[in-house]
Amino acid sequence: MGFNEKERAFIEWYPRGYGVGFKVKERLFETQTKYQRLELYETEGFGKLLVLDGTVQLVEVGEESYHEPLVHPVMLAHPNPRRVLIIGGGDGGTLREVLRHDTVERATMVEIDEMVIEVSKIYMNVARGAFEDPRTELIVGDGVEYLRETDESFDVIIVDSTDPVGPAKLLFSEEFYRSAYEKLNEKGLYITQAGSVYLFTNELLDAYRAMKRVFDRVYYFSFPVIGYASPWSFLVGVKGEIDFMKVDLERAKKLDLYYYDPERHETLFQMPKYVRDLLERA
Ligand code: SAM
Repeated sequence: MGFNEKERAFIEWYPRGYGVGFKVKERLFETQTKYQRLELYETEGFGKLLVLDGTVQLVEVGEESYHEPLVHPVMLAHPNPRRVLIIGGGDGGTLREVLRHDTVERATMVEIDEMVIEVSKIYMNVARGAFEDPRTELIVGDGVEYLRETDESFDVIIVDSTDPVGPAKLLFSEEFYRSAYEKLNEKGLYITQAGSVYLFTNELLDAYRAMKRVFDRVYYFSFPVIGYASPWSFLVGVKGEIDFMKVDLERAKKLDLYYYDPERHETLFQMPKYVRDLLERA
């Protein structure tokens, strides 16, 4: 599991012996935070690699292949996303992409582990000033508790968490989806990363079923993400009258995106037949 000294490589082992790895130039450090084991590497070809509890969170080169599809489809499908909540996302990549939208008045980010934020700020070029943006409100705390207790409401809620174990487990529960639904405005969108479709099929289907019990409509899409066992899944919950099959192409033009293509938004929903069958039977 993890770093292989002989090979000078970090490999994340998924269920059933499936692995995704990077050749490592230097092992920068490793520490146990209050919540998880944090490791940082300099890879040969992909910049820094951030690992939490043995799972790859991101590699600097190509991290947009995760942050663009997580952020822009929901931001561009919402008619006027002014208040945005991000749960997790300590590296700052999701916040950075959210703030590219001029409609945003305030972006609240609730990250449980301060160390992830600090290490990302010091060693990685991901946030690119997002934490210093006057529209940013940064809260160090548990996203589950925050959402249960806040009096605020949001147009878009983005869950950029670790996988459904440890501190992130409750972020994939029906109870949590209910508090998210309550805290969305009359028209609102919720998105969460939901793991590898091939390797975490049961976890994905559990989340899909629970979201369907809560939201007015639920969509699944997947995207090839550098560093993950791709394709990676995303689940979207809709509240009220919003058509997630359509995005605002005028606003999209200003963004100049690299991976997610708003002009071909409908291609997000193409999936292998077996995935469509699984979701239809869920
Ligand atoms: N892109 C990544 C992935 O899918 O592997 C996620 C990146 S981001 C670094 C994940 C963050 O979620 C971590 O920093 C972790 O501390 C945070 N997190 C996990 N559970 C949380 C919770 N209950 N509330 C707030 N943040 C949480």
